Amino acid sequence: MDLLAETAPDKTTQKLQSRPVPRIDARHVLHPWADLSSLGTQDALVIHSAKGVRVRDSAGKSYLDAIGGMWCMTLGYGREELAEAMADQARQMAYYTPFGDVSSEPAARLAEKLAKLSPGDLNRVHFTTCGSTAVESAIRIAQYHFAAQGQPQRRHVLSRINAYHGGTYLTQSLSGKSADRTLFHYEAEFVHHLSSPGYDPDRSNISAEAKLQELLSEMEAEIARIGPENIACFIAEPIMASGGVLTPPEGYQKATCDLCHKYGILYISDEVVTGFGRLGYFFASDVRFGLAPDMIITAKGLSSGYQPLGAVLISDRIATALARNAPADKPVFSNGFTYSGHPVACAVALANIEIMERENICGHVRDVGPYFIDKLRALRGKDIVYTVRGDHLMACVECWTGEEVGPTAANMALAQRVDSYCQEAGLLVRPYENLCILSPPLIITRSDIDRIVAILSEALDRAEADQK
Ligand code: PLP
Repeated sequence: MDLLAETAPDKTTQKLQSRPVPRIDARHVLHPWADLSSLGTQDALVIHSAKGVRVRDSAGKSYLDAIGGMWCMTLGYGREELAEAMADQARQMAYYTPFGDVSSEPAARLAEKLAKLSPGDLNRVHFTTCGSTAVESAIRIAQYHFAAQGQPQRRHVLSRINAYHGGTYLTQSLSGKSADRTLFHYEAEFVHHLSSPGYDPDRSNISAEAKLQELLSEMEAEIARIGPENIACFIAEPIMASGGVLTPPEGYQKATCDLCHKYGILYISDEVVTGFGRLGYFFASDVRFGLAPDMIITAKGLSSGYQPLGAVLISDRIATALARNAPADKPVFSNGFTYSGHPVACAVALANIEIMERENICGHVRDVGPYFIDKLRALRGKDIVYTVRGDHLMACVECWTGEEVGPTAANMALAQRVDSYCQEAGLLVRPYENLCILSPPLIITRSDIDRIVAILSEALDRAEADQK
């Protein structure tokens, strides 16, 4: 039976309106990261309304959102102040081009605020539309920076296995998750992947120090192989998010940054997830990891997910060099998007930062974050839990059948089962391979955390019982 033909579009308006939304969606939408084996046949979960840390589907069922939308919903849903900020800006001036020397008040004020919040001399902001376009822009800036100094060969980029940097052609090429490596084509000529730095002290048979030395030796050898004079930059998430909440051994972030600087390689810290409070600070690079990045990428929590927005924070040193070294006959920085630094998005980001400061959201995360991780780690005693890892409000539970470790078909099926039991009981976690990933809104309370862990614990027990 041709399942797609069976759900062929109904051209009469009346019938279209009466068709349930999940059916319409199944017929017409190709979702990001969709399971193609069920295209057109699988009804989507349609989220219809949301308040605080809870969302409601189109059938009226309520869920505790332990995904935080997609790592981005930080202040919670339905914040009047944020809605007002967007509406006010839309009424006053919904859009005007940001190209050339044209600006808007929200974009200029947000850039000033980001310069104050960011570490070191990251005082220049290049706005984009999301995390991917910010990462892509940062790479182009690094390559331009060296090309303008007469080093066009210095275009190679170091990334890591298990990284996730976005969904555009270049950012997917930088990403190193096995699930990304499908039939899509990748840029491989100038992108190089180092080993995944994830270190799990509970499950490793070498010390953190030994692992660190191993990773640093590999990195230095790779720099030597490519030639430092050919490498523009290294891009790294301080803690790998979508790759499975992978934390490097202590000292890795700073040591890799120092190594880059030793060879004149720019260090780009991708804080799309770790920034804006998820680890308890606006930026984790300096305070948590002692880094002095040349650029920081931010998105997601920057607007608390209320509008698509991304930004590259650039050091004064690089910005000045760009201006000084640009070709005299064509000094045009030809990178940017129609909606770069959209005024409505910048207005909501400013309101978001104002609330975060007023309500001391970062302090709250530093308070509840360790509680969240401790409660989750208590689940490690269960047979189907291989490990639990995380830091403040980013965490993941790795499932296994007790045989092979990793994303085997059996382990992935197990995680899917846990996910569907959670969903049944009113909890949304993010299934990825054999992992259940959690990144709740930053306003989460201890009692919400207790509820998340209780439901997850029961779901794990049910999935474990199914195994027997
Ligand atoms: N960088 C990191 C670390 C991410 O986790 C993501 C998305 O999850 C991106 C970049 C891409 O951001 P976006 O999906 O907004 O393009």
